[in-house]
Amino acid sequence: MNKPADAAAAHVTNFIRNAIDADLAAGKYASRTWGGAPGTAAAHAGAPPDPAKIRTRFPPEPNGYLHFGHAKSICLNFGLARDYGGVCHMRFDDTNPEKEEQEYVDSILAAVRWLGFGWTANGTEHLYHASDYFDAMYQAAEHLVTSGHAYVDEQSAEELRAARGTLTEHGQDSPWRGRPPAESLARLREMREGKHADGSMVLRAKIDMASPNINLRDPAIYRIKRATHHRTGDAWCIYPMYTYAHPIEDALEQITHSICTLEFEDQRPFYDWLLARLAEGGLLAKPLPQQLEFARLNLTYVVLSKRKLIQLVDEGHVDSWDDPRLPTLVGARRRGYTPEGFRLFAERIGVSKSDSWIDYSLLEECMREHLNEVAPRRIAVLDPLKLIIDNYPGDAEEQCLAPNHPQKPELGKRPVPFSRELWIEREDFMEAPAKGFFRLYPGNKVRLRYGFVIECTGCDKDASGAVAAVHCNYYADSKSGTPGSDTYKVKGNIHWLSAKHAFECEVRLFDRLFRVPHPGAGERDFLLDINPEAKKTIRAQLEPALKQAQPEERFQFERHGYFVADLKDSEAGAPVFNRAVTLKDSWQK
Ligand code: ATP
Ligand code: MG
Repeated sequence: MNKPADAAAAHVTNFIRNAIDADLAAGKYASRTWGGAPGTAAAHAGAPPDPAKIRTRFPPEPNGYLHFGHAKSICLNFGLARDYGGVCHMRFDDTNPEKEEQEYVDSILAAVRWLGFGWTANGTEHLYHASDYFDAMYQAAEHLVTSGHAYVDEQSAEELRAARGTLTEHGQDSPWRGRPPAESLARLREMREGKHADGSMVLRAKIDMASPNINLRDPAIYRIKRATHHRTGDAWCIYPMYTYAHPIEDALEQITHSICTLEFEDQRPFYDWLLARLAEGGLLAKPLPQQLEFARLNLTYVVLSKRKLIQLVDEGHVDSWDDPRLPTLVGARRRGYTPEGFRLFAERIGVSKSDSWIDYSLLEECMREHLNEVAPRRIAVLDPLKLIIDNYPGDAEEQCLAPNHPQKPELGKRPVPFSRELWIEREDFMEAPAKGFFRLYPGNKVRLRYGFVIECTGCDKDASGAVAAVHCNYYADSKSGTPGSDTYKVKGNIHWLSAKHAFECEVRLFDRLFRVPHPGAGERDFLLDINPEAKKTIRAQLEPALKQAQPEERFQFERHGYFVADLKDSEAGAPVFNRAVTLKDSWQK
């Protein structure tokens, strides 16, 4: 299995780790064998002991792109397998033929790999599909029928709904509930052979219509649906229900800890009931998997519902699934967020048993922390204003030295050209300075970072009265790093670029997609909460060294934040930059 660099990091314990520790200490899974591939009891019987101490799985439905919530689940499941000497299976839960596509499959695999995880262990690739188990699931259904635990119900959808009962009233037995197993079996086979119309009958588990848990009131386990599946084509016209399929997938794969989100808690009794019936019948190997539920990730300032994400893309509120404003993993990658940042985030938020909200600034802080470590420093002027050094010769130029990473002197310094005309940030000059403004204004001295001390002498204005250029004189003996340069004491320190050496470049400044922490709270339409300022495209001036930036190369632009060369829109010698995150949190105030 791929081991991300943080494999050895110390982990805060949580209820899932405690459960695994207890299971391992009790030897709960010690007797398990592994037949080399998923399968029924027969496939694992007599096989060698399972080399994996635990087995977990990440089971997305291939019906959309992964979002930040999935990252939590991926880091959890693959992380536990890594830490406990186990294996995490990559499994596509593709039991719903209508909404699934290969495009999503490919994108999901790429996202999991990007986060730093893999599904190959000891030379075996643990990449599985629920649809590979359609035969085993069908055999299990026949077994349930013949052993008296399931029956074919021919009521209409309305009749089924009406007989289900409510939270306070129990359900009514179906008139088909008592039919002989042989009759149900014949019907089930006809269903499979395509002899009945979609929706005309369903196979139901026979449990308890009076159960206080609605999920145990004879849940449907197979339905008739003539739909082409992206992997099995038209081989089947009946498909298993998710709640039936999922436990069987886990058991065939010998999963030990099946970790899911809290909304499945009420399904656990059915999960256990189903697997117990199939194990009794000798179809499944024991010990059986156990389901553990944790709180899903809720993150402020974004939406993590597939339905809402689809709406944002389909209605054109964002440009595409990989729009850097979206909380999808493909979007995050283009935005410049890093896998290490996500893993750190997953570690920090931990797992718990109760729902809560995580503040978006925590995710940003994790990205910042990692980017600060790895991103070389560069200079960019985002809102350029011309600065003219009147006492510097017009044809002269020289080099200044700027450190690549102030905390890592071993990364050295790079030359940055200096000349008579520079670009500075428009906001670094004020003709009439506000109180406490220490940067450029007529009569004030500042240091040009890594360069000279200058004194402002005035400015030129255009016809509209806007400042068109700032004038100054420089002190030739003040160059940073030269003897005596530190005798100049100034309060302001500004960044700059030589105008004739810098190049103009498209830069996108991203901000949070929503203006409020809980988009669509109450009955409000979440679209009304979109932040119209979440994307700003500007033309900036960048230092010459950035011209050769490769797609996905990340930098800190001094004073402005962390930026990445866009994966899609950058070309050789003509990068486009996206801002991943600012240097400081500007939302807390
Ligand atoms: P849906 O079922 O509505 O299509 P989903 O978000 O549940 O959407 P799946 O593809 O079924 O999507 O999810 C795959 C895995 O990711 C599941 O095991 C699920 O528990 C987990 N997951 C999904 N959303 C979150 C979230 N917000 N936080 C943590 N885990 C999540
Ligand atoms: Mg789901």
